[in-house]
Amino acid sequence: MENIKFLQKTLENRFPSDQQKAQWLHQRLLVEYGLPVWRTPLPAIDELVSTILSQNTNDHNRDMAFARLRSRFPSWDAVCDANVEDIIDAIRPAGLGNQKGKHIQAVLQQIRQDHQTLDLDFLIGWDREKIRQYLLRFKGVGFKTAAIVMQFSLGIPAFPVDTHIYRVTGRFGIRPLNLNVEDCHQYMEKLFQPKQYQAGHLNIIRLGREVCQARKPHCEHCPLNARCSYFNEQPNEK
Ligand code: SF4
Repeated sequence: MENIKFLQKTLENRFPSDQQKAQWLHQRLLVEYGLPVWRTPLPAIDELVSTILSQNTNDHNRDMAFARLRSRFPSWDAVCDANVEDIIDAIRPAGLGNQKGKHIQAVLQQIRQDHQTLDLDFLIGWDREKIRQYLLRFKGVGFKTAAIVMQFSLGIPAFPVDTHIYRVTGRFGIRPLNLNVEDCHQYMEKLFQPKQYQAGHLNIIRLGREVCQARKPHCEHCPLNARCSYFNEQPNEK
């Protein structure tokens, strides 16, 4: 309890400057990268399956696994009714097949059982937090997966935090370093405006992939270096 109070106080104290700095970051990346274009949105149920597949792998392997799954089974109903070993085999390129295959089938079966349908259109019109909680109750669906389905498929504002966003926001200094990933989702949703979530999310990921890489950030070429905490605290970097 004391820890929670301490964390809340810390967040309250630093929030105004984090928000101001986050807005600077957002504008700076818009100048650098422009308004990013997201691929054609998938139906929410497809996005949910695709995002489960994406965990701990890259986009290429995720897409290959998703395409194999769709080509082996004519419908999501067929995935529900399949032998799970066949699902695991289909999604092998994404890795963690045993775990992801079971999770995907269980999620689909639960949705079909509860709503007699295999799309997620019934979520449209629900309160934002109710949608998040609905998605989070499935095994294999965490904050990031729920936020991706909400933001990019259902059109409900949510800010997904992946490994790039967690790293960049920590180094740049718009969140406490000890904030866990789950709380980071809520914090980002406060720092940015809902209309900024999509571009903010995509541009920070691009920076994380191309410039602020995990092993060696290329700070000297980074468009954020003027206000980056990490860069400006390294005596030999400037
Ligand atoms: S200046 Fe360096 S540490 Fe800061 S965001 Fe850019 S690449 Fe990352």
